[in-house]
Amino acid sequence: MMMDCITLFGSGSLGSGSLGSGSSGSGSDSQYALKAARVFTPEGILENAFVHISHGRIDSVSDNLKAGYALVDLGNHKLMPGLIDMHIHGQSGADTMDATEEALAKIAGDLPKTGVVGFLGTTVTAPWPKILAALANVKSTMGKNLTADVVSGAEILGTYVEGPFFTPKNKGAHPEQFFLAPSQERIADLLEVAGDTLKVVALAPETEGAVAATRQLVAHGVRVAMGHSDATWEQVEACVEAGATIGVHLYNGMSGLHHREPGCVGAMLANDAVIAEMIADGVHVHPAVLKLSWKCKGTDRSALITDCMCAGGLPDGVYQLGELPVTVKNGVARTDCGSLAGSTLSLNKAIRNMTGLAGVPELDAVKMASEVPARILGVGHRMGSIAPGMEASLTVMDDDFNVLLTLVKGQPIFSAWSETN
Ligand SMILES: [Zn+2]
Repeated sequence: MMMDCITLFGSGSLGSGSLGSGSSGSGSDSQYALKAARVFTPEGILENAFVHISHGRIDSVSDNLKAGYALVDLGNHKLMPGLIDMHIHGQSGADTMDATEEALAKIAGDLPKTGVVGFLGTTVTAPWPKILAALANVKSTMGKNLTADVVSGAEILGTYVEGPFFTPKNKGAHPEQFFLAPSQERIADLLEVAGDTLKVVALAPETEGAVAATRQLVAHGVRVAMGHSDATWEQVEACVEAGATIGVHLYNGMSGLHHREPGCVGAMLANDAVIAEMIADGVHVHPAVLKLSWKCKGTDRSALITDCMCAGGLPDGVYQLGELPVTVKNGVARTDCGSLAGSTLSLNKAIRNMTGLAGVPELDAVKMASEVPARILGVGHRMGSIAPGMEASLTVMDDDFNVLLTLVKGQPIFSAWSETN
């Protein structure tokens, strides 16, 4: 079985030898079938199914091998859609705010180790010109990726602007001296610099001009997320009415639920127009509350995110999140005043926690990290699920959700596969 993989995916070991453009030329890897004990499709988990792949896309999913496809048997493992992290700041020492192509390449290159095939470069509150520089860098880097025929990592799907339109009371790791109101001029700045690579802008619904800013962004196809906020139920409802659709890491950095003042949490749980982001690391939100949120919002309105900062994939130590030093201890990132400062979570672990700690069925947990974010970001027609016509951006995990293999558009770009698998 392993020989099939080696032959199919290039010389040497599976994955590492096939990154370059040189290995994709042989005819054998343009058409093949992946067989796995459990295949996660939108309709359910199929047992011992075959996913047929041709020229980087899924042709069909069936219970037998079609003629003309080389077989890659993934044994007893789970084959699922590649994961999509719509809210992630950095990885492996690199941060979106570094505003360099190298930083984005590092993040994109290392995320497939966690099963991620697509992500939004997420900014953090900083002096306004620095935020604009980060957006400009994502845009120019994406432009280059589009023309390159070499797959080098997870796909950059655009930018998520987190800050500076926030409220001091729930600032989290955002330095309040750089907070600004979401004026029409500033929103126009974002749109001008980022163009259609601007995917999500977060704001606190109670900031001056928030409703008008929401309308302005939505009119340009940008999703509005609400967070780092002390808003009342009415203020959240007004933004939702104007088109806001995302709750920024539900519970963290927002007014809580009181039975006479539902606040941000109550409004977001109750309003079906809102999709809730959740940081399922077992630290940001208690597992019982993760379960409760899922029961309220359902799978289709729940998106697992990591909110990972640059220490993701690295040991404990002192790091930087935008303008602030952050100490990571036992994997938990905090500012000097003790506030949680992003996370070091990975999406495969978030799925593990949603199933293991919060008791959510695994198909639902996987959808919350693939199909749901793909739909939110407008790429659900080409990625985020295993179905005919979709790009073959996939990941393979073992029973404990350790990532064994990740493919982007049919090419293996990460492998921890060994003969013992
Ligand atoms: Zn945040």
